[in-house]
Amino acid sequence: MSSPTFLKNLAKHVTDTVRHAVISHHKRSGAVLFSDTTLRDGEQMPGATLEPFEKLRIAKALQDAGVHSLDAGFPASSEADVAAIRMMIGVITRPVLTALCRTLRSDVDAADRALHGNPVHKRGVSLFCGTSPLHREHKLNKSRTEILKIIEDTVGYAAEKFRIVAFSPEDASRTEVDFLCECYRLAISCGATTIGFPDTVGLLTPEKARTFIKAIQDNVPNLDRALLAVHFHNDLGLAVANTLACIQEGANVVQCTVNGIGERAGNASLEEVVMALAMHPDQYKRSFKVDTTKLVPLCHLVAELTGIMIPRMKPIGGTNIFATEAGIHQDGLLKNPDTYLPFRPEKVGGAGIQLVLGRHSGRKAVAHRLQALNLSADDHVVLKIIDLIKQLPKGAVVDDARLRQLAASVNA
Ligand code: MN
Repeated sequence: MSSPTFLKNLAKHVTDTVRHAVISHHKRSGAVLFSDTTLRDGEQMPGATLEPFEKLRIAKALQDAGVHSLDAGFPASSEADVAAIRMMIGVITRPVLTALCRTLRSDVDAADRALHGNPVHKRGVSLFCGTSPLHREHKLNKSRTEILKIIEDTVGYAAEKFRIVAFSPEDASRTEVDFLCECYRLAISCGATTIGFPDTVGLLTPEKARTFIKAIQDNVPNLDRALLAVHFHNDLGLAVANTLACIQEGANVVQCTVNGIGERAGNASLEEVVMALAMHPDQYKRSFKVDTTKLVPLCHLVAELTGIMIPRMKPIGGTNIFATEAGIHQDGLLKNPDTYLPFRPEKVGGAGIQLVLGRHSGRKAVAHRLQALNLSADDHVVLKIIDLIKQLPKGAVVDDARLRQLAASVNA
């Protein structure tokens, strides 16, 4: 009985059983799994190139923050991606490391080599193939039948080499729903453990995103054997909203980038999705493992290493998020920070509240700052300093040195 075929079938049966157990566990737990793609889709942003050792630093920070998996690179496309992944093996031990592949056996082989040595439950591949009419007709020149054949062949091949296999129909949000679901059914039957729903060009709204997720749940009967992942781009400024809508609808995995970096308008921002879940547990009722106190340092690290500056008003990581110049707000913040903040800086690992002194500042903030600098000043002096601040030219910064100067000139 112990023929090679029997042993092969037995091995496949064991692998299938383990796969199914892991997926059932994740689904039952109701957890939202964060899959970070800063190092792959984020790095695809023009000007955001990272050296392998820089990718390793970011990967370590993502591991510390608690993300579930890292889209670590595209081995078949770049030697630098292979080098970065090789540096992660044995160092990035908690998150699953996945490598991107086109639906080509040679890409799966390249991923297999790059991830060699990582434990079987911590290494995976993420295959993508364009499925929309635009991609089929103008990019691939393939019929629906030919696309299905490609999926069957490469997903099946990947499933022989990897326990964790994701399949994403590229441009899913512009693919006919019936064909999209056919691709998913086939991919799962060939061994895909995750199916991805990428809004490749970032055109969906939250309502339409939910409709897609419902359609997938209704028309992919073997979905109990795979996790459902979503991937949104921000072309309409809706990537985070779309991601949250899909979480509400039951998506298991969300793919995001730190600071929302990525091609064009970028990707769904990891820190924003995390904080929306953290602030509204009653609404989403989903657990997640990302440590919110690691977010701001993570945002700063990615900005520093990619050279892509964080816009000042960017939620969570922007420099203005805990800074205010308005007198009424400053007075409130001094009495109780919660008066004018949705959450305290320490919740996201931020440096602290900054009361910026400027034309809109009032007595309380100026007096508070003078006191912090050990400069005693009565009400009369404070009012004079405020007068001087109001006369400063547009854009003047009232830092500690300037405040000392102003205080000295009033007291003189
Ligand atoms: Mn993308």
